[in-house]
Amino acid sequence: MSAPIPVRTMATLATICLAILSPGSAYCRQPASPPTANYSVPVLMYHRISTLTAKEKTSAITVDLTVPPQQFELQIQALQQAGYTFLKASEVADAVAAGKPLPTKAVSITMDDGYADNYEVAFPILRKYHVPATIFVITSAVGSVGHVTWANLREMQQAGVEAQSHSVTHPDLPSLTGKRLDSELRNSRKSLEQQLKIPISTLAYPAGRYSDEVVEHTKTAGYTAAWKKNGGPVKPGDNLFLLPRVRVAGTELIEAFKRSVGIKSVKKKLSR
Ligand SMILES: [Zn+2]
Repeated sequence: MSAPIPVRTMATLATICLAILSPGSAYCRQPASPPTANYSVPVLMYHRISTLTAKEKTSAITVDLTVPPQQFELQIQALQQAGYTFLKASEVADAVAAGKPLPTKAVSITMDDGYADNYEVAFPILRKYHVPATIFVITSAVGSVGHVTWANLREMQQAGVEAQSHSVTHPDLPSLTGKRLDSELRNSRKSLEQQLKIPISTLAYPAGRYSDEVVEHTKTAGYTAAWKKNGGPVKPGDNLFLLPRVRVAGTELIEAFKRSVGIKSVKKKLSR
């Protein structure tokens, strides 16, 4: 007869089972930190997650926009080990809109532009750690060389990576007016909703650029929130159409990353 399983082991097994049963769940490795009305949630902004070719490495812009896969995985591990709950960007925006609490330690992973490596490189890492995330898609680029396909986006959606809007063609929105501006905002949302069969609620302004007119048209195009770039973590009461993000640079090393999201390094005390 086998020995009874200790209670602690059973709890661990239950946690693992939950991870297997709900692959999109963020809550399988660490218990969620307690909810707070006074949250501070870094919504991380990535672009490419990839190993660059020698030619690509000669472009400072590409290097800055591209986080190496090993670095991305270290960042996910650091967040999980520190007990962070991963939320989709729409979940953060919905909590701000509804005035609801969020976990004390919460974070959101977002990727802009819909690069193919988001599916080929980042997605397997996100799935390995059961991390939900958000991909802001330029809808006219879907299926083109170097970008995700609609089939990729559907597969990601099944595993907890939501798609949201990043306009149709990634123009400088403040330089547009009237129908052209509306078309960028409305048609990207419409394509995503038709292809993915889910409501699309948020927009990331291309290059983080907005104006009062852009914000007004974003509201009337049916979005309930929009994201700029930079500005620190999301806090209660933030303007829903100017939600901030924290940019992760390709050259950022893990200690700088931890500092930027507020993970405190454990310092060893010197014994004398
Ligand atoms: Zn962009």
